[in-house]
Amino acid sequence: GGFQSMGLSYPVYKGVMKKGYKVPTPIQRKTIPVILDGKDVVAMARTGSGKTAAFLVPMFEKLKAPQASAGARALILSPTRELALQTMKFTKELGKFVPFFFCVVLYVSYCGFRLSLSHGLLPPLRLFEMGFAEQLQEIIQRLPDTRQTLLFSATLPKLLVEFARAGEINTTEVSF
Ligand code: AMP
Repeated sequence: GGFQSMGLSYPVYKGVMKKGYKVPTPIQRKTIPVILDGKDVVAMARTGSGKTAAFLVPMFEKLKAPQASAGARALILSPTRELALQTMKFTKELGKFVPFFFCVVLYVSYCGFRLSLSHGLLPPLRLFEMGFAEQLQEIIQRLPDTRQTLLFSATLPKLLVEFARAGEINTTEVSF
């Protein structure tokens, strides 16, 4: 199955084509249909596997559903400012043809990571390895009860697995 067989809407498909992707990478083939199906996913994805598009493509599809309340509808957490900026650029490129879509990137300088979320700023989480589980918990508490969680990581640290098992995410584990 290629991208055509995934049932993507035209604006999303057009973004994929514009990026020059001919066929989905293995992680995309495995995760996109599951995500479109509404399941939470924990995926072990090494660098260069195409993981960013693996969650962005279905994210755009999901954003087509009518908005139930005001405010942001998707939240992407990245461990570093560099990765956040890179993902922002990627999101804008891939979402180029998606109508009424816009995104913002938020980060704070390293020494300021304790700034509260009420300031509208997100810490540069390296999420589990650096002991940010507590901050992550704080973010999760402020998310809507009905949500879909996608976790893509190069490694699956013990704490992350425990976190997922604790029911924070209903896992459909996919590894490569
Ligand atoms: P990532 O693992 O998200 O850092 O992606 C690594 C690189 O693969 C990026 O340059 C993507 O643009 C590229 N990429 C992602 N999906 C595909 C695909 N289906 N075909 C070709 N390149 C892709």
